[in-house]
Amino acid sequence: MSSTLNSVVVLTGAGISAESGLKTFRAAGGLWENHPVEEVATPEGFERNPQLVYEFYNQRRRQLLSDEVKPNPAHTTLAKFEHDFHGSFLLVTQNVDNLHERAGSQNLLHMHGELLKMRCLNSQLVFDTSEDFTFDTHCRCCRSAGNLRPHIVWFREMPFHMNKINQALESCDLFVAIGTSGNVYPASGFYQTAKIRKAYTVELNLENTGSGFDKRIYGKASKIVPQYFESLLV
Ligand code: NAD
Repeated sequence: MSSTLNSVVVLTGAGISAESGLKTFRAAGGLWENHPVEEVATPEGFERNPQLVYEFYNQRRRQLLSDEVKPNPAHTTLAKFEHDFHGSFLLVTQNVDNLHERAGSQNLLHMHGELLKMRCLNSQLVFDTSEDFTFDTHCRCCRSAGNLRPHIVWFREMPFHMNKINQALESCDLFVAIGTSGNVYPASGFYQTAKIRKAYTVELNLENTGSGFDKRIYGKASKIVPQYFESLLV
């Protein structure tokens, strides 16, 4: 890795929030909180059974807002690094929880949406919500029921902020992926984009994902993320 570090991009996945009490996906094509992803994380699943999909995300939101779920040392380390680092820093998360912002992260992009937001299917306007909502909830803009969906990017939908993310990847010196299985495209290809401009690429994960990173460190995020990022500031 070059000795001068000017620009860092970090990608996080469900693994960084596992020790905060939010379950990850179980392996490729696996289950999310006991539900097949096709049921709760695809546009077709929403068309087939909207009731189930609303209830699934209502449960995830209630869990996220419960007293037991809070940021862990991996989230707080990234917020502190962003504050202390003098170069440019972008945090891209695949997570739909709000643990990075609760830890204090600022330059943050949620590429797969957010649990605490809902979107109107007519106007595409996005609203904050900490409450349950369903097919019967009246939309704040069109004032009728049946138009709201979770502001979540489902499989086969286009992730958010891809232009900004690609620009940052193409100009960074260091790319670090934390707690992501590398099963979900396009995030799984970010390390390759970063490498085009010869960025150094690092994986911090519980286990080897088989991807071609320059360096790999294995262990729980709450331990290895503080160790790694503190070493960068020395
Ligand atoms: P994934 O579940 O496919 O993979 C999780 C990865 O984290 C695995 O490689 C696993 O080895 C690793 N991991 C597990 N516990 C860890 C720990 N304590 N420390 C370090 N690493 C750990 O997750 P993904 O790659 O993010 O893809 C899943 C998709 O599911 C994402 O798009 C996301 O939107 C969604 N999801 C989000 C949440 C959340 O917001 N917290 C939770 C579950 C799923």
